[in-house]
Amino acid sequence: MLYYTEICLSPYEVPGEQSICIYISGCCNRCKNCHYPELQLPEHGDVLSKRISDIIDLYYSQASCVCFLGEGTGRQEEKEELVRFAEFAQQKGLKTCLYSGRDTFIEEWMKEFDYIKIGSYQEDFGALDSQTTNQRMYRKNANGEFEDITFLFWCE
Ligand code: SF4
Repeated sequence: MLYYTEICLSPYEVPGEQSICIYISGCCNRCKNCHYPELQLPEHGDVLSKRISDIIDLYYSQASCVCFLGEGTGRQEEKEELVRFAEFAQQKGLKTCLYSGRDTFIEEWMKEFDYIKIGSYQEDFGALDSQTTNQRMYRKNANGEFEDITFLFWCE
């Protein structure tokens, strides 16, 4: 079961979108110098399934996207929950984004999302806004293929 700690509206997490950002706890990645250690606590915050409908109803007129920051503990049931929440947001006309902190490829279940960020935080390489980052942001195109748009985070 997914838990969340915080919600905000932000134009920064997904390029070109105003996102409802939902911070999900239970992260197992243990990145050195984690930017948000509270997200590593299991079952921390409120149960997301009880609030997701209200959250989207409250903010959707101001937003174009729902961004899920984290995958919880990574259990299969939580992945299925995220996919259900993404489908719900899409039915409301919103794009969806998944922030995974794992060093992985685009997994089949992730393809439900319009944007996918993958990669752990590695201080030496920097976050998405660093040109040396190991992290990647992908956007689904009209053919359902994912294109690397990480460069959109880089300022000249
Ligand atoms: S993925 Fe994010 S929340 Fe999780 S340990 Fe790494 S920096 Fe912290």
